[in-house]
Amino acid sequence: MILVLVELENGSANEVSLETLALARSLGSDRTEAVVIGDVTDRDALTAELGAHGVDAVHQAVGEAFESFAGAAWAAALQQAQASTGATVVTAAGTPRGGEVLAHLAARLDVPMAANAIGAAGSEPVVVTRQVVGGAALEEMALDRAPAVFTVAGHAWAATPADEPTNPTWHEFTPEIAERDLVARVTATGQKEVDQSDSLKSARVVVGAGRGAGSAAGFGPVSELAEQLGGSLGVSRVVTSLGWRPHHEQVGQTGSRISPEVYIPCGISGAIQHWAGCASSKVILAVNTDAEAPMMTKANYAVVGDMHEVVPAIIAELKRRGSIPTSGG
Ligand code: FAD
Repeated sequence: MILVLVELENGSANEVSLETLALARSLGSDRTEAVVIGDVTDRDALTAELGAHGVDAVHQAVGEAFESFAGAAWAAALQQAQASTGATVVTAAGTPRGGEVLAHLAARLDVPMAANAIGAAGSEPVVVTRQVVGGAALEEMALDRAPAVFTVAGHAWAATPADEPTNPTWHEFTPEIAERDLVARVTATGQKEVDQSDSLKSARVVVGAGRGAGSAAGFGPVSELAEQLGGSLGVSRVVTSLGWRPHHEQVGQTGSRISPEVYIPCGISGAIQHWAGCASSKVILAVNTDAEAPMMTKANYAVVGDMHEVVPAIIAELKRRGSIPTSGG
């Protein structure tokens, strides 16, 4: 049986938790159960949502301890749910909270924990494939002590509903929480300033540009293509270091990690530090004058050519096909 910590956002399961449920179902266990922590605004709606994603039972931890987030207290709740259900796998989305809670849980249970899984298979041991070095490499890790505890990398799975929806039962429980589990807790929250890289991180299409753009003035066509495709512009570090574009547009180890449906890197060599930020892209179409550039050899599709000619040609072709508006309308 698999237990999934489901994080809530405005009363619903957040998308990465639904992705985690999709991975959990792929393990082929007889049951998938969910733990939610704290208040639930609309139990019927959440039951229906989790049922659509194949959850057989929901365990809601309630009590004063959950009025604000405390990682150790959440882990205590999860540990009690694991003990009562006998789950052999406990997983959560690889969010800051998911990672913190499962690290506490693994320490309490004295079992190993794997972060950022993109796949898992088997039982005793469960073997997870996980991203390391910022997503630039994958490794397999055998979790040889039960329960297997791991987090799931964001956007590694689609948040698709189950083939056969379920009708989950609901179990409310009040875990015993020790004083020490509340020592580190959230005491205040505030509105963060708008992070300009947010739209890049969540974009479905990213058009990238690197040193091959040639100068600050060389970004016109790539910016136009990004805009016309409803996407965002992403750049390499050379571009931000040279002051051609702002840092919030940088993709990579020291920039944003992106996982769009389509990434179109133009004039970007594909250095390991850049790859670390774009390796989760579903499809990569690279444009480069050098057919041997690492980005070209890793891409799904590669166009050997000058980006100053190829990108305008892509825009012209999309306009000709009516896929994007012509300048007249
Ligand atoms: P280059 O490596 O110079 O490549 C330019 C490419 O453009 C070449 O492949 C060339 O063939 C091609 N080209 C040239 N002209 C044209 C043209 N007209 N049309 C088409 N193609 C053309 N980099 C990042 O991007 N993100 C990071 O977060 C990051 N973090 C780093 C952290 C550390 C600690 C370090 C040491 C480095 C980091 N880097 C990062 C830098 C990284 O190592 C590379 O130097 C950088 O990614 C290279 O950028 P580039 O591909 O634009 O330039």
